[in-house]
Amino acid sequence: MTQVLSVLGSTGSIGTQTLDVAEKCGIRVAAITANRSVELLEAQARKFHPDLVVAMDETAAKDLQVRLADTGIRVASGMEGLIEAATLPEADTVVTAVMGMVGLRPTLAAIDAHKRIALANKETLVCAGELVMANAAREGVDIVPVDSEHSAIFQSLQGCSDRREVKRLILTASGGPFFGWTKEQLEQVTLADALKHPNWSMGAKITIDSATLMNKGLEFIEAMRLYHVAPEQIQIVVHRQSMIHSLVEYTDNAIIAQLGTADMRLPIQYALTWPQRTEGVATELDLFSCPDLTFRKPDPETFRCLGIALETAKKPGTPCAIMNGANEAAVDLFLREKIRFVDIPELVDYALSVVPAQSVENLETVLEADRAAREAVYSRISG
Ligand code: MG
Repeated sequence: MTQVLSVLGSTGSIGTQTLDVAEKCGIRVAAITANRSVELLEAQARKFHPDLVVAMDETAAKDLQVRLADTGIRVASGMEGLIEAATLPEADTVVTAVMGMVGLRPTLAAIDAHKRIALANKETLVCAGELVMANAAREGVDIVPVDSEHSAIFQSLQGCSDRREVKRLILTASGGPFFGWTKEQLEQVTLADALKHPNWSMGAKITIDSATLMNKGLEFIEAMRLYHVAPEQIQIVVHRQSMIHSLVEYTDNAIIAQLGTADMRLPIQYALTWPQRTEGVATELDLFSCPDLTFRKPDPETFRCLGIALETAKKPGTPCAIMNGANEAAVDLFLREKIRFVDIPELVDYALSVVPAQSVENLETVLEADRAAREAVYSRISG
């Protein structure tokens, strides 16, 4: 069980909820990091008294240094600071809740430093899953998922000592705000429409990914890497109520599921306390007030991002990194209202067609694929 924590991305949705769990479970916080949310970082630093606070942005870090001058808390900046937070000797667990590819280097550094990884950054496994899992196995490091679906699978696998007994993983999807819509209806989607999520409250990027269903595509690939299963062994099921968080089907046809309210603090807490369980921070699920539970097939043809992800999942090497990088760039353009909702899969498809696939030799291959994919997307729109 975690005693001392380092939280990468402490000001985002997962980060703030992680600090809430840490406070209620009496876990010490040794390091916090953010991009440039100086005010919130300062407030968190004053509340949790970490040894180290990191702002990725140089100017923000300088500002923070002045703000925290009276506290004696050390302030660092940039990727160097992020890696220092990921490898801090005092911490036994690192929560990787930063958004996007920026999480990859610090995750690899934390593995080398033998920290438990409470993984909340799905891009890490999507882009460099083979590398990350191989390093974790080599170093004997536990990677415990924070994502609600992967946590549910992880919980449903407890007690399974022979993975050959697992027939398939069943990954639930809320379906997003546009479930059941046609292609024509999706043409009309605005940024405001896409930012509304029915069940979960999350950051902007993941909310858009949930609307396009790319999020489920990324989770599909993440599940393949985490649990070493083939694409044929994962079934996506649209479950609108978000009460069953995912399931595992065994060879004898028994299905084990994990249920709970749509409260991320439960999977966060489990990632920190595993293999133990402690008193719950998340809200209780009242079965008598549950709506009827429904299960539907996903529609990867209408939601093309999901279709692209399921195809890309079958390809070894850099295609997953290319897809992820292109998606991050396309979502960024959509959030800045430079492109339409339906242009997101178009651009991801385009990047996959122009950036050549390679086998993953090392971290640099992955970073280069990511860079080339982003460049393909941005130059397509500005050019
Ligand atoms: Mg999820």
